[in-house]
Amino acid sequence: MNDQEDEDRSGPVALEPPAAEADAGVGESGSSGRLAGDEAPSVRRVRPLPRVIAVANQKGGVGKTTTTVNLGASLADLGYRVLIVDLDPQGNATTGLGIEARNFDHSMYDVLLRDIALEDCVEPTNIKNLFLAPATIDLAGAEIELVSTFSRELRLKRVLAPIREDFGYILIDCPPSLGLITVNALAAASEVLVPIQCEYYALEGLGQLLRNVELVRANLNPELEVSAMVLTMYDSRTRLADHVIAEVRTHFGDAVCKNVIPRTVRISESPSFGEPITVHSPTSRGAIAYRELAKEVSGGPA
Ligand code: ADP
Ligand code: MG
Repeated sequence: MNDQEDEDRSGPVALEPPAAEADAGVGESGSSGRLAGDEAPSVRRVRPLPRVIAVANQKGGVGKTTTTVNLGASLADLGYRVLIVDLDPQGNATTGLGIEARNFDHSMYDVLLRDIALEDCVEPTNIKNLFLAPATIDLAGAEIELVSTFSRELRLKRVLAPIREDFGYILIDCPPSLGLITVNALAAASEVLVPIQCEYYALEGLGQLLRNVELVRANLNPELEVSAMVLTMYDSRTRLADHVIAEVRTHFGDAVCKNVIPRTVRISESPSFGEPITVHSPTSRGAIAYRELAKEVSGGPA
C-alpha cells in the first residue's frame, strides 16, 4: 500500500470553477471547488432486480459475514426473496443462520465441483423469504480443485443462472482472499459490496481488491461495479473511528453507505445463537443499523 499516495489523495479536492460560474456567485455556499459528481443528489440509484451482490474484502474479520447475514435478513424482512450463498470454507454464514452441516445433503462444494444443481443445495432458514446455499470446510479444497476445471472462473455464474430470477437479492459471502472462489463470486455478481472496518488500517489492501474488481470487469464481467462500501464496527468512543470514516468518504464519496454499523456485543454474540441480529435482538442498535442499511441499499420495501 502506498501511504504517500493516500495522504496526497486525502486532501481536499480543489477544482478551478469555470469562469462564468465564478462571476455569477462567488462565495455562495462553496459550490465551486467541488467535483461535478458531488453535486448530484446523493440518493442511491435504484437498480433492477435480481441484484447479485458479492460481499468481498480479502481481509478477514472486517464484517463480511456479519453484513451478509444481517443485511440479507433485513432485506428479507422488507419483503424481498433473498438467497445467501456461503462461499467461505469457514461456513460462518451457514452456522450464523442456525444451519448445521449434519442437516443438509449438499453444499456449495458439490455445486461448484460435483455438478449438483444449486436448487438442490438451497435450504430455507427460520426467517421468511431468506434462503441459504451452505458451505462446509470441503470448500477449502475447491480453491485448488477449481484450477484444473473447464471455465474455472465462471462456474458460479453458470450455476446461478437457472435460479437467478427466483430471488430479488442474491448475496455472496466471500472468503478472506482474492483466489478463484472470490473471482467466481465477482464474475457471477453485478455488484460488489465492500465492508470496511473502522480501524487504523482500514484502507490497506483496498487498492488490491479494487484492481481485482477492475480485472474481472475487463475480462469476465463488464457489468461489475463496486456499488456500496459499508463501514462496520464503528465505536463512537474513539476519535480514530471518525477519522477513518472521514478518510473513507474522502476516497470513495457516494459509494460509501450513509448508515454505519456500530460495534455492539449483541451483534457479535448473535451468530452463536444461530440468529441474525434482527431476530436475536430486534430493537438493538445493531438491528436498527442493519435494517436502515437494507432500506438504503434497496431503496425501501419490496
Ligand atoms: P469476516 O467475514 O470479514 O471475516 P465477520 O463478519 O466474521 O468478518 O466479523 C469478524 C468478527 O467480528 C466476528 O466475530 C463478528 O461477530 C464480529 N463483528 C462483526 N461485526 C461486528 C459488530 N458490528 N459489532 C461487534 N462485533 C462484530
Ligand atoms: Mg466471513
